[in-house]
Amino acid sequence: MKKILVIEDTPSLREDVLQILECLDFEAIGAENGVVGVELAKTHLPDLIICDVMMPQLDGYGVFTALRQDPETAVIPFIFLSAKADRSDIRQGMNLGADDYLTKPFTTSELRNAITARLEKQAAVIQPYIDEMKKAAEHLSQLAYSDPLTCLPNRILLHHRLREALATARRNQQGVAVLCLNLDRFKVVNSTMGHLMGDLLLQSVAQRLTHSVKAEDIVARLGGDEFSLVLVNLSLTQDVEPILPRLVQNLTEPYSLNGQSVRIQPSIGVTFYSNYESSPDQLLNQADTAMRWVKERGDVRYHFYSPEMDRVDTERQLIELYLGQALEREEFEVYYQPQVNLITGRIIGMEALLRWTNPELGSVDPGKFIPIAEMTGLIVPIGEWVLRTTCRQVKAWQTSSLTPMRVSVNLSARQFRQQNLIATIREVLAETELEPDSLCIELTETSVMEDVEVTIATLHQLQQMGIQISIDDFGTGYSSLNYLKRFPLDTLKIDKSFINAITSDSNDAAIVKAIIAMAQTLKIKVIAEGVETTEQFDFLRKHGCQAIQGYLISRPVPAIAFADLLTQDRRL
Ligand code: C2E
Ligand code: MG
Ligand code: MG
Repeated sequence: MKKILVIEDTPSLREDVLQILECLDFEAIGAENGVVGVELAKTHLPDLIICDVMMPQLDGYGVFTALRQDPETAVIPFIFLSAKADRSDIRQGMNLGADDYLTKPFTTSELRNAITARLEKQAAVIQPYIDEMKKAAEHLSQLAYSDPLTCLPNRILLHHRLREALATARRNQQGVAVLCLNLDRFKVVNSTMGHLMGDLLLQSVAQRLTHSVKAEDIVARLGGDEFSLVLVNLSLTQDVEPILPRLVQNLTEPYSLNGQSVRIQPSIGVTFYSNYESSPDQLLNQADTAMRWVKERGDVRYHFYSPEMDRVDTERQLIELYLGQALEREEFEVYYQPQVNLITGRIIGMEALLRWTNPELGSVDPGKFIPIAEMTGLIVPIGEWVLRTTCRQVKAWQTSSLTPMRVSVNLSARQFRQQNLIATIREVLAETELEPDSLCIELTETSVMEDVEVTIATLHQLQQMGIQISIDDFGTGYSSLNYLKRFPLDTLKIDKSFINAITSDSNDAAIVKAIIAMAQTLKIKVIAEGVETTEQFDFLRKHGCQAIQGYLISRPVPAIAFADLLTQDRRL
């Protein structure tokens, strides 16, 4: 139902209009003066505004001017109400850019016609924008979520679908089987018969897999000769058992490719979800472990996962052990990596990146210890330390160099879901006296897509505080465009895996271009991560990316070295 705001100071007239609108099936809101009108427009974002010209305090022109200054209310169609005598009023309103006017008194049908005409016109203005965005998003999802060779879902989409399948199974008290499948001797086919034959073989395998399962099951290609299957609507582990030999049988039938006959055999690892606890990652890891076990054995084609198959992971255990004491032993340090504007060539900000050096383990890669910190919950105190250290440092730089700069701090999914997140950030900002707009929070697609309504509320709180929000590693997770549109985002950071091959892999180049195009329609900035070469740099500049981060400019460096970069004010 369309929402219409009526701003009119004469009570009887306001009530009349509201009543007519309700009869015409609109949701009608009334405001008794201009000030209230502006307020209601901003909170309700109506589809159309009808506003009297002559009002005490803030008149109709004042209301109109105020609303046009706010991007959210600027596009709302605006109809002036004026007394018949005031022709000059009308001209003034139309000159300001109002959409239409109605002279008092007016009939119900005059009112209805004016409203319908405006709403239709508005739809015509907005529709091309929505179409363009849909096109960009469809193109992107086609590129980013499907494997170009087999047209099967890729790892990202598999993850997303698996998550959905697990939720459904939990609701319906059913089981799900997750399979990882690898082709034995595929490399031999590739090297002796050529890549073209290898590609044809993978396409045929994809087809046979799809035909071997039900339509609601999922078949995905993980890369190379690895596939994954998710079988849904099962009740018991035993339900999977008859499927497995049939699958092996289907896949081992000879393939006829370009007149040549090729034979291969699969190795399949299986795990069954019925405890309603495991995550998609855990299940895929289990199936993968079972698959590698099958491959090593060589005499079986499939097997179910069992915990004994896991090698004891000593490195992981050591990290967990020492990580618990790292904060109090002051083993952490924050490094900074500059972000450079591609047009001016100047440093516009930096990303804070955590470094950990332990006396026993040496320097540990964040890719290894951050996930463990996340799983154990240690990320919460560690993350707060990073935030505080970074804000204090950046405030010191701003004070001494007087240049405005913004710092990005990574927040993991677990930190983002902390009840007291907003309070903690507020407290750190107050304590370090850093302006909120000097801070940008980096979140991954997976953490924002987890519980969308909660995400939207938290992001709005951050935005209202003046903090910037950026989506990190964009393109490696699953994003629904409908939600992206609703998130108050400032920046998308294109993941470095796409930048890596941007000048050699046409699919990656197309993904990057599609992300930039989508960001443009969403009116948000784009930063490319992991830029290492001038060729990548030139490509990004040519295609409208605003900023970059990467070894080409500088590796992440300790605070002291970063201060040198700032004083040099080096331009590209
Ligand atoms: P990220 O947020 O996507 O950070 C960018 C990563 O790319 C950093 O890895 C950076 O060193 C690396 N990088 C930058 N330029 C280049 C380049 O040109 N080539 C290549 N190959 N790599 C480049 P790093 O520092 O190892 O961090 C890895 C990840 O760990 C980060 O990815 C982030 O997700 C996480 N992380 C780091 N610090 C924190 C933190 O304080 N809190 C949380 N929650 N996560 C953090
Ligand atoms: Mg980051
Ligand atoms: Mg990143």
